Amino acid sequence: MHRFFVEKSHVRDNIAFITGDDAKHLEKVLRLKVGNTIEVVVGEEQEYLGEIMTLEGKSHQVKLLEPSDTLRESPLKITLYQGLPKASKMELIIQKAVELGVYRIVPVMNERSVVQLKTEKDQLKKQERWQKIAYEAAKQSKRLIIPRVTLPMEFNEAMVNLSEEGQVVAYEDEKKTGLKDVPFINKDQDQKSSLRSIGLWVGPEGGFTKEEIKSIKDKKGYSVTLGPRILRTETAGLALITMVQYECGDLGG
Ligand code: SAH
Repeated sequence: MHRFFVEKSHVRDNIAFITGDDAKHLEKVLRLKVGNTIEVVVGEEQEYLGEIMTLEGKSHQVKLLEPSDTLRESPLKITLYQGLPKASKMELIIQKAVELGVYRIVPVMNERSVVQLKTEKDQLKKQERWQKIAYEAAKQSKRLIIPRVTLPMEFNEAMVNLSEEGQVVAYEDEKKTGLKDVPFINKDQDQKSSLRSIGLWVGPEGGFTKEEIKSIKDKKGYSVTLGPRILRTETAGLALITMVQYECGDLGG
């Protein structure tokens, strides 16, 4: 079923108003008709089944029927700090990370990133494209939120404003420490993790420098191995997100 996101201010008396590009898309591309049902997510919080009441001009009215009680969002807010990879890999990473429930993505220009987006114009252009990919993936995977993709940042810039409770970096040269050795990940068998937010760092094709790893560790971060094989950068983040969701997010059951 087709899914639309609306702000709370666009809902009155249980009627959601679909406007702008979404209105055009609903009518002209999807060719939906009065009486058809769609999914409507209000205020990045609650999803409803909705019935199209009127298709008029630039604002379509959709009656909100039952609210859904499916819990779609992880209790753990994961920020993926992804070292900028080559070409279209970032698009794949964003799409898959959104499917796996990431909360936010920060594209990072590491020392060894081949791609460096120098001008503000280039950065903005990429960010817009990536945000659109996150939006499409959020719709497709039935998220309640549209994960934000920030503007690309230099490594040092990304390090300045860390807001998560803990940081974990996947490091190809880490031999000993695994995810379960990280104190804020490790929990008693029968206790639910109380961790609410985490930053996950993945390097670009060239990997991390020792100095970068040290900076993350200096901020009480932990470097972990993802196993004895070297994963491509686009595999590493997805593996790490999945493991973290399993340990302290919503995949562990
Ligand atoms: N150029 C490096 C590999 C970089 S792989 C080399 O040849 O050694 C890209 C990124 O994926 C790494 O920076 C790391 O964040 C992650 N990664 C890949 N394999 C990993 C592993 N086995 N353990 C931990 N992190 C890994």
